[in-house]
Order: sequence, then C-alpha cells, then structure tokens
Amino acid sequence: MHHFALVDGVMHAEGVPLPALAEAVGTPFYCYSAATLARHAQVFRAALAHLSPPPLLAYAVKANPNLAVIRTLAGEGYGADVVSEGEMRRALAAGVPPERIIFSGVGKTAGELEAALCAGIYQINVESEEELHALSAIAAGLGLAAPVALRVNPDVDAGTHAKIATGGSEAKFGIPAERIPALYAEAARLPGLVPHGLAVHIGSQLGDLAPMEAAFSRLGALIAEIRRAGLAVTRADLGGGLGIPYDPALPEPPSPEAYGAMVARVTAGWDVRLAFEPGRLLVGNAGILVSRVIRVKRGLRRIFVVLDAAMNDLIRPTLYGVFHDIRAVVPRPGALRATFVGPVCETGDQFAEDRETTPLEPGDLVALMTAGAYGATMASTYNSRPLVPEVLVRGREWALVRERQTVDDMLRQEHLPPWLEEGG
Ligand SMILES: *Cc1c(COP(=O)(O)O)cnc(C)c1O
Repeated sequence: MHHFALVDGVMHAEGVPLPALAEAVGTPFYCYSAATLARHAQVFRAALAHLSPPPLLAYAVKANPNLAVIRTLAGEGYGADVVSEGEMRRALAAGVPPERIIFSGVGKTAGELEAALCAGIYQINVESEEELHALSAIAAGLGLAAPVALRVNPDVDAGTHAKIATGGSEAKFGIPAERIPALYAEAARLPGLVPHGLAVHIGSQLGDLAPMEAAFSRLGALIAEIRRAGLAVTRADLGGGLGIPYDPALPEPPSPEAYGAMVARVTAGWDVRLAFEPGRLLVGNAGILVSRVIRVKRGLRRIFVVLDAAMNDLIRPTLYGVFHDIRAVVPRPGALRATFVGPVCETGDQFAEDRETTPLEPGDLVALMTAGAYGATMASTYNSRPLVPEVLVRGREWALVRERQTVDDMLRQEHLPPWLEEGG
C-alpha cells in the first residue's frame, strides 16, 4: 500500500499534486512519501511484535541512503545496516544511535573496520576468515573489543534474479556453513573479538519463504552445534530480502505477517536476540520517479515514448530487466501501446517494452512507480546527465531533500593537467 493516488484526475503524493512539484523542482525527480515509509516500518515491526526479546530492526541503507529517509525510519525506531563507511556516516548523521548499527559487506577495508570500531556500533558481520584475522589485529591494536557475528553462506538457491542472489555456495558472500563452528571457536580465542552470533542474508526481492526458511534452519543447527562446544551465542541476524509487488500481473510476494509467522516458528527456542535488515520492503513503493515526455516518436513498427528520465536515473530495468509500472500523472481518456525509453545513447536505455498506458503527448508527466528502493542510490551521471533531485512529502508539506546536481558541479571536480592548459 502506498500514498500515490489520483485526486480529481491528478496524481498526488499524499496531499501534494505532482504537477506542482514538477513545476517547483523540474523533472525528472524522485518523490518519497513519509506516510508510506512510516506505514511500512510499522507493518514490518508489527509482524515481528511477538518475538522476545524485541529484535533489532536495522534498515538496509543501501536501498535508499537519503538522510531524510534514514531519519524518518530512525524516528520509527529503526537502526541501520550499512555496507560502507559512507553509509555508516550517513546513518550517524541521520541520528541513528551507534548501538543500532550493523556493518555488513564482503570487502570492508582496514580503515572502515577501524571507523566502525571507533564509532562503537552494535555489530560487525564478518564475511571471511581473512577478515576475522584483520579485524582481530585492528581491534587489539586499538585496545577495543569488536562485537562480531559470522555471516553464514547457507548454500541455498534464493530463487530470485541471479544478480541479487547472495546465498549460493558460488557467491562471494559469507563463510561456508561447514567452516562456521571452527571459525566461531577461533573468534572466541583471538584477541580483540567478542563473537555474539551468526548472520545470514540470501538475496533480495525474494518471492518465496521456503529458501529463507531453509537458510534460517541451517543457522539454527549451527547455533546448536556451537553451543554444544561450550560457546555462547546470544544473537542471530536474519538479514533482509523480502520481496515487494512491482508487476500487478504477477502473484504477490509473501506478506510481512507470513514472514513473521515463519520466523517465529523456525526460531522458537533459539534463545537469542534477533536482528533484521529490511531494505526494499520499507522504501520500495514509498518512492516514484517523475519524468516528463520529451517526444512521442512513431517508428516503423512501434511507438516510442521518449522520457526525460533515463537508465542513469533508474537502472533497474536495464540491469535486471524488471518491471516498473508507468502511469500518467494526469491520465487522458483512451489507451496507448508504446515502448518507453530515455535519451541515453544505449539500446538498453529502456523502461518498458510494448506497454499499455493512457495516451501521452509531449510535455505530459509520467510516474515510474515503486522506484524508492535501488533507484536514486544507483544513479550515475552517464551521458553527463546531472543527478536528479529528491523530494520528501508529508501530508500537504514537501521538502527538497537532495538538490539537483548541476553541470557546473560536475565540471568543478575535473581538472586539466598543466600540459593541456591554454598556453601550456
Ligand atoms: C542488500 C542487503 C539487505 C537488504 O536487502 P533488501 O532486499 O533490500 O531487503 C540486507 N542485508 C544485507 C547484508 C544486504 O546486502
């Protein structure tokens, strides 16, 4: 459920008409709904309310790292799951307390591990034996104790797109399950480390609970095995990955309620504090990308609607071949079947092929729906297209939460070497 709907024939974000926003900030722009963010945060929390002790809910910042988005979710009691020092600094700047921050990722640098230790975060999820040794040396050198969870690679097929499946034995993520008990014991012996538990995250946009259940069961068996060796396990981090609906023609992914019930069943008797790292689920359909039609181009066999947004603004269709619903902001009566493309010089710069919408004319506004997750954050400046602004709406209020980049901003960061300067 989201808060982008037609009011008197004009699409609004909550109480704000989108044409007014387009007038104020120009197009394209991302628009986020605070009410939708809060609603998703509350629905996910409610689905896990029966767990005891209360779990740590750590929003996966990479899905949408805008400070105002992180702050809105922090206001709902969420912590942060971060995968770089940059994301950690964003979370801290947005007001997330360090004791609610988890640092994940397969290639944390020495500098990042040190920054995480000095910030005093809740947990560092270690993804290899080599990283464990590096962390031990850094923490011991600083005279600190690193709170560690080992990320397990459970060797399950998540049943999602290959580029966002992370739990197979061929993936770069996590430590093979069979090596976990010995490595956990080693972590308990090494200086500078306090192993608290295990973590798992098998992929994103999961449409089926079964692979998650298999991974969690594997985690449960490992916890029991580690405890049999006399070691303490007090935490288990179950990652993120729950899918959201993009294409109304496809079956809906499992609900947060069904997920919560599965988690309660599988983790009964574990006697740990659980953590969760939802990303897409919280922000995905709380955001849209608003774009203007530049041209309607009649090809030999197809009609192309050329938008002022492109693959550099929203790369998911190009990267994963996925569906984003496209709706006119002020729908005209009738129907149009067209291919939606951007102005970038790549054939892959296409949002939808042979898609039916309402008729569109140059100057019309369209909304690419469900663009709040892995949208703005994956944008680039390819074709020297400046990064687009982000707007957060709350009721009848709105605010520009990231400015539009300018070409001058881009040029300022580039320098000619002395031998190419004029007169050089
Ligand atoms: C990306 C990621 C998440 C969030 O995944 P979603 O599918 O957006 O919920 C959580 N944990 C880790 C370790 C991740 O890499």
